[in-house]
Amino acid sequence: MCCDGTLFAYVPVTDEEARRLRHRLTILPATAKVELRFEQRCAALGPRGCDVYDERPQTCSRFKCKLLRRLEAGEVVFQDALDRVAQIVAVVDRLDQSLPAGKSFYFRKALLPEVGERVPKDVAPEVWLDLKVLDILMRRELREPADEPAEVGNSGRPAG
Ligand code: SF4
Repeated sequence: MCCDGTLFAYVPVTDEEARRLRHRLTILPATAKVELRFEQRCAALGPRGCDVYDERPQTCSRFKCKLLRRLEAGEVVFQDALDRVAQIVAVVDRLDQSLPAGKSFYFRKALLPEVGERVPKDVAPEVWLDLKVLDILMRRELREPADEPAEVGNSGRPAG
């Protein structure tokens, strides 16, 4: 979820990382507001994980989701952590079927109205409910407020 566009829109990179990874990733130019970055879903995410693991950006190697930190701290047992991830993946998979076609899950989800307290008239109630559940699960299990990108187009932080 960290690399496939579920949690984050972009991964920021340094100049050196951009040079090193340019052969594998499409690096987007820095602007006045955002640094060099590449878009999620990550092009280096293969069927067995990160294809550039040994040279992945620091943003990726340093990031630990909330659940991993809690696992390392002994606050959650391994099977429980797996069950929580499976629960989130199930919601993402359901939503994936219902969202408009487009780029990564992150961008496609952002095409829908804000998850408010009422079901928007152009969104099916079950989709709205899944969006609401996903929002709660991501905040509860995966990321701290500081991990959250302010909006699509900002450099959301990733993982690996
Ligand atoms: S760890 Fe970083 S470079 Fe590797 S697949 Fe994930 S986002 Fe891409």
